[in-house]
Formats: sequence, C-alpha cells, structure tokens
Amino acid sequence: MLSLTTPIENLGFVGTKNAPRLKRLGIKTVKDLLWHFPTRYEDYSQQTNIGDIKEAGGTVSIRGEITDIKNAFTWKRRLMVTEAMVSDGTGWLRVTWFNQPYLEKTLAPGTGVSLAGKIALDKKGLYLSSPAYEKVPPLKSITYNLKPDLTHTGRLVPVYPETEGVSSKYLRFLIRRALPKIDNLADPLPEALVKQYDFPNIGSALQTIHFPKTVQQAEAARQRFAFEELLLFQLRALRDRRQLQILQAPKIVFDKELVSNFVRGLPFELTNDQRLATYEILKDLGKPYPMNRLLNGDVGSGKTVVALIAAYQTASQNWQTVFMAPTEILAKQHFQTITALLSNLKLGISIGLLTGSESKIFDECGEQKTSKPKLKQKIAKGEVDIVIGTHAVIQKDVRFAKLGLVIIDEQHRFGVQQRMKLLKDSQPKTLVPHLLSMTATPIPRTLALTIYGDLDVSLIKEKPKGRQEIVTRVIPHSKRQSAYRFIEEQIKGGRQVFVICPRIETSSFDTNRQSLTTNPQFSINKLLWSEVKAVTAEYEKLNKEIFPHRRVAMLHGKLKAKEKNEVMKKFKAGHYDILVSTSVVEVGVDIPNAAIMMIESAERFGLAQLHQFRGRVGRGRHQSYCLLFTSGDTATTRRLRALEKTNNGFELAEADLRLRGPGEFTGLKQSGLPDLAMASLSNLELIKTARQEAKLLLKDNPTLTHHPALLARLNEMQRLVHFE
Ligand code: ADP
Ligand code: MG
Repeated sequence: MLSLTTPIENLGFVGTKNAPRLKRLGIKTVKDLLWHFPTRYEDYSQQTNIGDIKEAGGTVSIRGEITDIKNAFTWKRRLMVTEAMVSDGTGWLRVTWFNQPYLEKTLAPGTGVSLAGKIALDKKGLYLSSPAYEKVPPLKSITYNLKPDLTHTGRLVPVYPETEGVSSKYLRFLIRRALPKIDNLADPLPEALVKQYDFPNIGSALQTIHFPKTVQQAEAARQRFAFEELLLFQLRALRDRRQLQILQAPKIVFDKELVSNFVRGLPFELTNDQRLATYEILKDLGKPYPMNRLLNGDVGSGKTVVALIAAYQTASQNWQTVFMAPTEILAKQHFQTITALLSNLKLGISIGLLTGSESKIFDECGEQKTSKPKLKQKIAKGEVDIVIGTHAVIQKDVRFAKLGLVIIDEQHRFGVQQRMKLLKDSQPKTLVPHLLSMTATPIPRTLALTIYGDLDVSLIKEKPKGRQEIVTRVIPHSKRQSAYRFIEEQIKGGRQVFVICPRIETSSFDTNRQSLTTNPQFSINKLLWSEVKAVTAEYEKLNKEIFPHRRVAMLHGKLKAKEKNEVMKKFKAGHYDILVSTSVVEVGVDIPNAAIMMIESAERFGLAQLHQFRGRVGRGRHQSYCLLFTSGDTATTRRLRALEKTNNGFELAEADLRLRGPGEFTGLKQSGLPDLAMASLSNLELIKTARQEAKLLLKDNPTLTHHPALLARLNEMQRLVHFE
C-alpha cells in the first residue's frame, strides 16, 4: 500500500532515471503525483466501426485486432515506419507509427488493440496516423465483449503538463497504478460541507479528475478541489488575522486635533478617499495589536501623504516610522515628497534618508548630508522620527530605538517575523510594529479576498481634483508613421518620451510556472537576458532609424543599480529625449516633463499593467499621451481600447482578470495559490462561499481539531507559503 507521503522513487516504474524528471514537474511524492491534475482531456470515448470510416481529418477510436505488422525504413524521411493492419470485423484499416520499431513485437499479429487518433489520407488511401494504443483481449477471446478498462484510448483521456522524458502517457500509467493503492485517504473537506454542496468525496474526486466517465464528472471534481484550496486559503487568512490580534503593538493614540491641524497645513485638500483611508489607518494604530493594512490606490492617487500622516501621528508619540521603498530612486522620491510637504509645516520632526549610495537628514535646520554611521547612530538613539530607505539597506543594518510603524511600498506582504527582525534587539521584543503596505497595482476584489484575505484594505479610487486626463490611443500598424511624427513634434516642443517594450520570448524559454519554481536562478537569468535583448533592439531601432537626431537612452535589469540611477537622473535632468525600458523600471518615478508613454506590442501586456505605465506620464502641466502600438488583430485591439475609454485602474484590473486570467497580478505567483484555485479567481461566488464556510468552521472550532485532515493540510500549506 502507498501513502500520500511515499516518495515517488518508491513507486514502481519510476527508478533513478525518471525520478529527477518527475521532480522537474514538482512531483516528489505520491501526493504530488495524484495532485498533478490534467489540463484537459482528449475525448476518445466514442467508438467507431472501421467500416464506417469514410473520410480523413477526424479523430476516431477503434477496437480490433492486428492482422499484420512490419517495420520499414523510409530513406526519404529518414524514419523508421511501423505499418500495421487492423480489423474489427466491419473492415480493415491501415495504421502507421514513426520511430517505434519495438511495436512490431509488442503488437504482433493476433493482438487485440484499442486505438485512438487521427484519420489521414495518402496515395494508398485512408490510414490511422500515430494513434495512441493499448492492448485489449483479441476478437475471438471470450472476454472480448466485456468492456475493457482502458487508460489511454476509448475514453476521456487526461492530458497533463509534461516535461522532457515525462509524457502524459507515462503519467497516466503511474497515476492509474497508484490510485487504487492509496491507503487512508482522509478527506480534508469536512463531511458536512461535502454533503451540503454535493461535492464528490476525495477518493472519487481524485479518480474522476484523472479518469472521468463524463466531462461533467471531471468538472465536478475540479470544482471540489478548487473549493478546497480556496477554503484553505481563507482559513489561513483568518487564522493569520487571529494570530495577529493576540500580539501586542505600540498603542498610538488617534489625536484628532493634532491630525486636523496637520491636514489643514497641507498645500492641498485631501480627497474623500484619502480622508477615509487616513481615518482607517489612524484607528488601527490606536489598537493594542499590530495593524496589517494594505493601502491600494492608483499611481498619483496620493498615497504618500496618507502614509505621512500616519508617520506624523506616530512620531508625535515618540515612536519611529520606517518607510521602505523597492529602489533608491523611489526612496529618494519619497524623501523629497515628504520633506516638501513638511517644510511648510515646521513640525519639528526629523526625517532620515538611507540608501546604498546616500544618507541625509532633514529637520528644523533643513536638509543636510550626514555620514551613514552617524545617521544610523541617530536612528539607534531614537533621534530620527521617520527613516526612509531601500528595503535592502534597512533590513540589513539599521537598529531602531522605538519602532512603531513600518511602511512598505510595492511589497504586499511583510510578515510578523520580518517586522520583528527589523527590531533586532533595540526594543522590547513583545511589541510588534504596525504595518502599512502600499501598492499602486489595483487589486480586483476576488483577488483581495483570496490572497490578501489576511490584510485589511484601504482603497483610494478617486484622484485629486484637477488632474489632467491622459489621452490614450491604440496605434495599429498602419498609423505607426504618423504616430512617430506626432512624437517628433512633442520632442520638438521640449517634451520627453518613455518607451516600453515587452521582453523577447525566447523559444527555449519555458514560461510555465513549474520551470520557474524548480530552477528560479536559471529562469531569472534567462528572463533578464531576454529583457536586455528586447530593450537593445528597440533602442537601436529608435536611435538609428526613427529618431537618429534625438538623444535616446535605455534601461534594463542587467544594469547595476548605480548605472540605472545615473540614467534616470540624466533623463530627469533632460539629457535624453527618449528612454527605452521594459516593465521592470521603477513604477513610481516622477518625471514631470515626460508627456509621452509609448508602448511597443502593447497587446502583450495586461490592461492593469498598461494602465500603470500610463500613470508615469501626466505628472506635470503638459497634456500627456499614451500610445499603445500594436500589431495584433482586431480582437486584441478591442481589448486595448478599454484603456482609451477608462482611467479607472480597478475597472481595468477586473477586466484583465476576466479576459486574461489571474496570471498577470503581482504577488500571485508567490502566493502559493494552486492552479485550480487560480482558475477560480474570477468566480466571486465560490470565493465568497469559501470565505463564509471558513468563518463558520473557525467559529465552531477555532483550533480546527475536529477536522484533523483539514488542519493537516492547512499546516502543510502554512509551511510552504510562509517564507518568513
Ligand atoms: P502615489 O499614490 O502614486 O504614491 P503620491 O503620493 O506620490 O502618489 O502623490 C502624487 C502627487 O500628488 C504628490 O506630489 C502629492 O503631493 C500630490 N497630492 C497628493 N494628494 C493630493 C491632493 N489631495 N490634492 C492635490 N495633490 C495631491
Ligand atoms: Mg508612490
């Protein structure tokens, strides 16, 4: 007997050659094998009589007996061809296979076979070309009329994600053998839920997801597994929430007067969404347990000032705030935005900037450079209220005296352990700092509920008044030249241009998630190189052919941080007219003079992502434009036209999820969400149901000890997903 934890090597027919190959598909145990679900099914379920086969092109499934078989080498195609004749009593059919000479022996005359494949036509007539085959009792045997239990033919046949050396046929064979040998298969779904929703139980769901009798059966199994995964995700989120609530955090009291004074001193009025978000955050800070909140708002919606108010409130009660950005440029930009806002206010708080290359401090005496050790010393003594810097620098070597609030930009999840690590040993370890993470990626509701279910979310949907609308146009191939002329006019007028191009997909690069998980380093390198190639090609084209008299620069992931900074700085200072890059480049960088965003092969990006690129222009007083260059067909053009019509990032993100599935959303790949649950992410009903049921389960039995199988799965998931 097998158990789910049995290593794949211990399964028969695996051996030392195949075990590593299976591992490349993520299959290490029997569980992994059985949970390697088919992506589709080949429908070979309708059996045809040979006598009824009249034309080429269709797929048929037949049963009969080999009457003749032999190998021949074709010199023209340099192939070994095995040609056989099959009879089923209603007629004969010719069958061919390539480069499988052993078939001559395996399928010797007299062998009963079930075959499935395409009917083709050559000068000798109709024939069955390279069909799937399996042996069945021969025509005259007494068991012939018993319906044989088929695996590869004569039924709905599962087709799996494959890798070199691991075919669907082999996987089918292994799974078929393993299924009946599984011992003690406990159902993670509580029986009551299985009954209530009329789901198949775990045993039959596993059987029917691999070897369904009908399409409906397979679908029911799929729904069941998707629900199970979603339920687990919800349970995890709810449990994480609870765990946070039993921890202690610095209690930062909501001082309404202080805050309204601060807000009155700002050079602008807060939007309603900003007010609401601020209120939600300040209320959280006053609670005795750590905040875990995501501030989600489009580029330019004004998240920084909301974060600043929280930091100010925190500073006023003698707690420090750390503000972490993904890049140096963004850290500096935050520093500038914040010090600019504060300089009008004269509040007597001090702000430090700490990046790989720079350290300075801003206080009542203005802005001064300071050495890194000195700045760090001041931070450790609690003399700096708000520390702004890059993730890397801060996580490595900064000690805080009293850290009350962690603000983190463009990284959605930052666990309790990570927060505690920031404390090092400079503060009583019992107080966990509050967390505010910020993102400009609009997150659709179903996603927020599923993978960010442990976070509270504050949304900023409206932009500050008076912002210009960016004119967006889809540019089909025929309009390219006039678009270039338009860009030239803009440059003449003194504007600057961002050009974004997608990575070149190299044919050998396997974009499926498996290869990324099994060999991340290898794939990341490949990704980087395909990016360099794409950017360089576009750069050459623009620099040599289209705008030879203009100053063009490029940015890509292979440049060192310092080089990137240099290019960005020069672009910002107006040394270049055009900057070519891929999507990786700093999302939030402010270049007020850049008025054109030109995107090559726009159809290759998701709508939400295009919307983000668009957000990089329109920061200044000039009318700005977003030009979506495409060579796609009318359907892709239609998809892109959504961007011409709306400026609402949330609507676009929802549309993306519907049209392209969830693959595009940042954070999703790291979320550990299994494919089936992923595929259900646009199913709000299923997600809501899962959340509801998770709540009920935890309410009745907070420890989940009444559901040991569910608890085991949950703990296993927690181990896999929480890389804190
Ligand atoms: P993001 O949400 O992309 O981080 P920022 O916080 O950088 O946006 O804000 C963009 C710009 O808008 C900043 O210069 C900021 O000072 C300004 N801003 C923020 N809120 C408002 C507002 N309510 N009215 C006008 N300008 C605002
Ligand atoms: Mg920002």
